[in-house]
Amino acid sequence: MSFSGNREQAETDAPRMARWLDAARTLPRAALAGIVGLVYPPACAACGAAAGEPHGLCAACWAGLSFITRPYCERLGTPFAVDIGGPLISPAAMADPPVFARARAVCGYDDTARALVHKLKYGDRTELAVTMAGMMALAGRELLADADLIAPVPLHRWRLWRRRFNQAAELARALGGRTGLPVDVAALARVRRTRPQVGLSRNERALNLQGALRVPDEARPRIEGRRVLLVDDVLTTGSTANAAARTLLRGGASAVDLLTFTRVIPGR
Ligand SMILES: [Zn+2]
Repeated sequence: MSFSGNREQAETDAPRMARWLDAARTLPRAALAGIVGLVYPPACAACGAAAGEPHGLCAACWAGLSFITRPYCERLGTPFAVDIGGPLISPAAMADPPVFARARAVCGYDDTARALVHKLKYGDRTELAVTMAGMMALAGRELLADADLIAPVPLHRWRLWRRRFNQAAELARALGGRTGLPVDVAALARVRRTRPQVGLSRNERALNLQGALRVPDEARPRIEGRRVLLVDDVLTTGSTANAAARTLLRGGASAVDLLTFTRVIPGR
């Protein structure tokens, strides 16, 4: 509830609020929770429909997410169609090992996941970051258990100004709040604007990102010898994640893992 609006309104509301609180004190706790629930029914974080709990998803949106569960490639985090037992590395990870050690994501990048990411990016919804980070904490629990610190993939300053906030930093902060791990939003800096990656070939993507990221000198002591968990909202081709992981390793990190809310699953 916010009282930050109009001052006069707040003054006329005050006696009414006091009377309401007096009345509420005489009610059993369960009845009070019921009344508050009626006034502010929990809304789905993705579509706004009624949800079971605050900051949760409604049943339809929950069912719409394609959660990634084992068996999956232990390096890339991409799901396998069949379980052939034991820890597995996909042929793709063997042929072309990623720079990061392990990647995990909550779900495939489908319509519901896209809607959530879009809301997070353009809706300035920090409470949505808390919901998404809660799901990420489960999908990435092994990575979080090994991590020394959390670092978001940075947004260029110009884009940060346009959009006002970095969705990866919001997710990183929410994950830090949940786990108690330190969050270093300044571990990586984007020093040069990059062209959008869409439509570029693999080599063009790598070239586009070359030298775009760096670990600022003042951040080096915080990174050196640490296992860093890199956080972003979406993993698409992995070009940005690999460039960020390479930069962190050159900056002295002992290893880099990657945790995203959603990811494109090749071949799907
Ligand atoms: Zn919904």
